[in-house]
Amino acid sequence: MSLAAPDTSPAETTRPILRERGQREVFCGLTSIVWLHRKIQDAFFLVVGSRTCAHLIQSAAGVMVFAEPRFATAIMEERDLAGLADANDELDRIVTQLLARRPDIKLLFLVGSCPSEVIKLDLHKAAERLSAAHFPRTRVLNYSGSGIETTFTQGEDACLAALAAAAPRDDANNLLIVGALPDVVEDQFARLFAEIGIARTDFFPARRADALPPIGPSTRFLLAQPFLTDTTRALEARGAKRIRAPFPFGAEGATAWFQAAADAWSIPEMEFRRAIAPHRARAKRALESHRQALEGRSIFFFPDSQLEPSLARFLSQELGMRPIEVGTPYLNQTLLAEELAQLPADCVLSEGQDVELQLDRCRAAKPDIAVCGLGLANPLEAEGITTKWAIELVFSPIHGFDQAGDLAGLFSRPLRRRAALKV
Ligand code: SF4
Repeated sequence: MSLAAPDTSPAETTRPILRERGQREVFCGLTSIVWLHRKIQDAFFLVVGSRTCAHLIQSAAGVMVFAEPRFATAIMEERDLAGLADANDELDRIVTQLLARRPDIKLLFLVGSCPSEVIKLDLHKAAERLSAAHFPRTRVLNYSGSGIETTFTQGEDACLAALAAAAPRDDANNLLIVGALPDVVEDQFARLFAEIGIARTDFFPARRADALPPIGPSTRFLLAQPFLTDTTRALEARGAKRIRAPFPFGAEGATAWFQAAADAWSIPEMEFRRAIAPHRARAKRALESHRQALEGRSIFFFPDSQLEPSLARFLSQELGMRPIEVGTPYLNQTLLAEELAQLPADCVLSEGQDVELQLDRCRAAKPDIAVCGLGLANPLEAEGITTKWAIELVFSPIHGFDQAGDLAGLFSRPLRRRAALKV
């Protein structure tokens, strides 16, 4: 399997980038359904895929068997794959059945997969056709969660890019926070933006499909996640303007992120400082309790979630860790410019993966902790290298001042556990 980088903006960093195009170990974009279905509470995700795809999301989101499910797989059988059945007719039949049984579904995503892409099933046309049939009761959109040439956070990016097209156009002078955040974090952010003095803050995606925020030329948006390249393009195509900022990880990251919004709204510096001071002080205190476990320790990031450069910046700048290699599946240098500028000069920045070569570099470097996918964690642990699962960082609330200590804890805990086992 080879890895091709998506179209990114012109290079902005002068540091060398190690680019690899070999075998890689990442989850596919279907995985993002696990957190997206919790976020958009009246949406349903219908994967158009194989039994493998069904197994992946069922096991990734196994808890859902106890709840009213909001995702399913339209399984493509041999007949569909061989072209013996009309896949569009089958899909229309399944969607009609589903919507008759579940009138609560306001937004239906048809999620493409490797098999649907291989047989070139046009889900965009299918979504238009089905939306025409079922709108206004249900809107039907599509995006790809395929694992061909992609990593799992691109599932969210593709979903939000599709959703941007469905948002109402309006000249609301709003601040748009972009990226799926846990509700508890969203509530904290909404309160803090109000304290800072920004009159209208919207979140994208919204918790309900019928509450999509307006997006237009007066919208200024702040990314909460660094992996939203296509979403950024979709928002800019609607005239919205991106506010440049690092990402809100840790006390410094969160301060700079909120400050970027405050500057865009011309909030006086004193007012901004007064609003964030208690939050920032609390985050700093929370980080201090992890410093002893983390300061001076080395860390190696395998490419997985696309959060890697931002987390490496946080861990080195705010906790004194030493990133040896910061691997990321794709590097959007424009969205990450503020983070890259603050990475230590001596760490290797790598894009893409050739997993065997990278494992060799990791073994040679003997990091105190490696951040990697599930498939690499057990073998590395068996070799004596402490690991942290990258996907846990996407599932956990880690953004903002109030989560700074928890984020540090995700790295200090495995190190403390390893130290305790050695005693
Ligand atoms: S989308 Fe592709 S990579 Fe993902 S589970 Fe289905 S077949 Fe596997």
